[in-house]
Amino acid sequence: MAYQLPQLKYAYDALEPFIDAKTLEIHHSKHHKTYVDRFNAAVAGKPLLESQSAEDLLVHIDTVPEDIRAAVRNNGGGAVNHSFYWAVIGPRQNGEPKGPVADAIRAGFGSFQEFKAKFTDAATTQFGSGWAWLVMTKDGKLEVIKTPNQDSPLSIGKKPLLVIDVWEHAYYLKYQNRRPEYIDAFYNVINWETVNELYLAAK
Ligand code: MN
Repeated sequence: MAYQLPQLKYAYDALEPFIDAKTLEIHHSKHHKTYVDRFNAAVAGKPLLESQSAEDLLVHIDTVPEDIRAAVRNNGGGAVNHSFYWAVIGPRQNGEPKGPVADAIRAGFGSFQEFKAKFTDAATTQFGSGWAWLVMTKDGKLEVIKTPNQDSPLSIGKKPLLVIDVWEHAYYLKYQNRRPEYIDAFYNVINWETVNELYLAAK
């Protein structure tokens, strides 16, 4: 089945003033849609690939035929990463993690502030386009990583719990070259309830 562009669970202007409506609209309806369309085009007519989810193809990226591997990595990654990004942000958030994931963050990083410093650093220092992530490793540990382009943590055996898109298209209209301001604002839209659910599911 073809990958579907997910509907957002909030309006394009719901994340103002942290993420502006115009950015959200273009990011979802143009950028994300293009990744989805290109991924679907890349696997169309290839039953072995079409029968697997985009996520499964990313997990087993090394088994994808070489002639379309880059298309799956880039466009399948773009499709899945953006769906994940929309899911872990939302309006009217109160900023701090709660529940088991909050305990795990304290245990893994020392404190929420120390986690935040690591996540901010990863997002700030990702050179060029890419993403910063909170992931769970195979042995159940929490880790902050960054990936270039549309590379997915799924392809290196890690389960994503939280992500920030640091491609310029995610922030340029409002923040221009000021990526650190966008990263700072991003903490106001993290949906920690969803992050906690992902953490529980990943365990
Ligand atoms: Mn993006």
